[in-house]
Amino acid sequence: MSAETLAWPGSYGGDAKPRVGFFTDTSICIGCKACEVACKEWNRIPESPQGFTGKSYDNTLDLGANTWRHVAFIEQRVPADADGGASLVEAAERGGLVEREGLATSKEGDGVRWLMSSDVCKHCTEAACLEVCPTGALFRTEFGTVVVQEDVCNGCGYCVSACPFGVLDRREGDGRVWKCTLCYDRLKDDREPACAQACPTNSIQFGEVDELRERAEKRLAKLRGDGQSEARLYLADEEDGIGGAGAFFLLLDEPEVYGLPPDPVDSRRHLGAIWAATGAAAAALGAGLVAAVFGGR
Ligand code: SF4
Ligand code: SF4
Repeated sequence: MSAETLAWPGSYGGDAKPRVGFFTDTSICIGCKACEVACKEWNRIPESPQGFTGKSYDNTLDLGANTWRHVAFIEQRVPADADGGASLVEAAERGGLVEREGLATSKEGDGVRWLMSSDVCKHCTEAACLEVCPTGALFRTEFGTVVVQEDVCNGCGYCVSACPFGVLDRREGDGRVWKCTLCYDRLKDDREPACAQACPTNSIQFGEVDELRERAEKRLAKLRGDGQSEARLYLADEEDGIGGAGAFFLLLDEPEVYGLPPDPVDSRRHLGAIWAATGAAAAALGAGLVAAVFGGR
């Protein structure tokens, strides 16, 4: 069974459903942004024009109150030969990638590849956002997902700084926070989330988390066997800093390349150590004051 959370499945008893989530296989994302559009349409999210930044073909840039799905476009140059510091072995591997994966080669002889990845709320096992929320607006559903109730949120913003991924965001002119609900309304109707349904390549795969993790391991083994030595799973490990995620990813390079934190940690994990250090500092200060007052007599 997927890692248990504080409120799932225990607090739901017999009403608990299997934990569901997303396995996003970025190796087959084509950057069409159908998921972004489907999410906006289904959830009636206001438009979020970012203008032309000149940095990329990406026109949504990051997750936010009005962007619950974001497809990152990363243009990556990889030398196709032994020039540019690549060893002969690396050059041979890259040459193979150019042939097998259809990487374009520029006039200068560099390989260019596009890394694309549809980002979303991770529906963490240890979700700091949910634990710091003073009103109970954020809650764990019977499907093990994390949802904000807009009619309870008071806009205090505690969750915004608690999320290690910068997912939560206040909506301008509204003040409350908004994020992916993993289409809670659709789940209750036994329907697939809108983004996963719209994805034409099945890069966004929806299902029970346990089954998705098995599928992801097989896909990773296949890619590694095909020479994609940098391929890796991100947030699929229950031993990581957030206890694993309901929405995890297969990446073709380091998380930082995609703008993701390499080792995210539930911000509450170190609270005990911080309070202990604060207590020790206060005790030392008190002892110093006592010594100063009575020692001088
Ligand atoms: S990614 Fe952020 S907003 Fe989503 S569940 Fe985790 S802590 Fe909460
Ligand atoms: S699960 Fe629903 S709310 Fe979340 S990103 Fe997909 S379409 Fe949007």
